Amino acid sequence: MAGLVHPRTQQSFLWELGKSFALVGAVVLVLQFVLAARLRGITRHFGLDAVLRFHRGMAIFAVVLIVLHPVVLALGGGGWSLLTSVRMPWYIWLGKIALLLLVIQVLAALVRRTVRLSFETWRGLHNQAVVVLALVLIHSWVAGSDLRHRPVQALWLGLFAAAVTTYAYHKVYAPWQGRRRAYRVSAVHRETHNTWTLMLEPPEGSHRFPFLPGQFHFVSLYRGDRYDGEEHPFTISSSPSEHNVLRSTIKASGDFTSTVGNTKPGDRVRVQGPFGRFSHLLHPAETDLVFIAGGIGITPLMSMLRHMRETDADLRVLLLYGNRAEEDIVFREELEAMARPPASRLKVVHVLSDADLGWDGERGYVDQECILRHCGEEVSRKAFYVCGPPPMMDQVSRALRSLGVPADSLHSERFSL
Ligand SMILES: Cc1cc2nc3c(=O)[nH]c(=O)nc-3n(C[C@H](O)[C@H](O)[C@H](O)COP(=O)(O)OP(=O)(O)OC[C@H]3O[C@@H](n4cnc5c(N)ncnc54)[C@H](O)[C@@H]3O)c2cc1C
Repeated sequence: MAGLVHPRTQQSFLWELGKSFALVGAVVLVLQFVLAARLRGITRHFGLDAVLRFHRGMAIFAVVLIVLHPVVLALGGGGWSLLTSVRMPWYIWLGKIALLLLVIQVLAALVRRTVRLSFETWRGLHNQAVVVLALVLIHSWVAGSDLRHRPVQALWLGLFAAAVTTYAYHKVYAPWQGRRRAYRVSAVHRETHNTWTLMLEPPEGSHRFPFLPGQFHFVSLYRGDRYDGEEHPFTISSSPSEHNVLRSTIKASGDFTSTVGNTKPGDRVRVQGPFGRFSHLLHPAETDLVFIAGGIGITPLMSMLRHMRETDADLRVLLLYGNRAEEDIVFREELEAMARPPASRLKVVHVLSDADLGWDGERGYVDQECILRHCGEEVSRKAFYVCGPPPMMDQVSRALRSLGVPADSLHSERFSL
């Protein structure tokens, strides 16, 4: 656009390139606010996890361009004082501060797990991206020679307005709506020594949102008069055929999830969803399925199994369900009932890595041998749905690839966004 309205230049090629890096970097950066806003029109087609992966990749691309921009300008005639001198106009300082904040943001996202930065601290930092947005707008508006032209100014303001609007929708409007129309916890059921199911009902007179079995939602709990504010993603473990309720089955695995057992019927819950594309209903041509679950990774698969049971689906399912010990198996009785012969088309195989001496089932992990033993030679013709801890998912995906399972027959959900 800038090139079209102002095609001639007296500046060097590198100078123009440096400016283009800034323009393209800023546009890509601004679009990240739209991508991260969980807009249904986007997430419905691609899945939130894929959108967030793309968002991370594009954010890195934008930061690389923006970091290169002053370097290329310096090489293109601006001189190194552009980078080193402290005697700079205020708007160049704003640009430098924005650059520094951006680099900190990206580094924090990349090394969050390695340096054990808590999710909440990281998210607090990430939310400051809106400050960067304001700094980038002011810097580009004053420093950018291409922004002297009306059409480019209009485009620029439009882009930034779109970013601010989607940010406000995501961070202010959607949470406010969720609080206003909060769901209610109608029951809390203990599943195992460390896992609970919360049953949630929409406000009186309204309906819960429609969802596909296997999808997830974001949940924030208000317990007593306390609103934790923390929003966490959990699979909807119930089936969509269950009337007007949502259930989530949650394992104590950290600060927040360890307190889920303290939730009481009557507590209010903010719910946002549904998200995700991990559902057998999106692949109707598949009829011979293998579900592989590790620990609490059973929840999306359970939602699908419940839906199949309630709709009498004509599908054959083998469930390979890995846990540490018998006491960790969630939904054990319900799965046994579902798999009861003669009518059932479900077969359940429990695989325990730390079983008692009395255990006469499978031991170890769901690995290549285990998969082959239960799937037989037809393995590559089946469709696989895998959900569990990251190391297990990596191992299972490798095993399935080496058994010749095509990539489009392998569906997986990672419990990390
Ligand atoms: C799509 C999806 C579906 C999930 N379904 C289930 C389920 O059905 N049952 C279940 O028990 N768990 C589920 N989880 C995992 C659950 O979200 C995390 O275990 C929980 O958020 C951890 O919070 P914590 O404070 O207890 O643990 P922490 O020890 O604070 O966090 C452990 C890790 O969980 C992730 N995490 C923490 N807080 C958040 C947050 N607010 N938003 C996103 N990620 C966060 C981070 O990667 C963090 O490193 C799911 C996760 C995803 C992404």
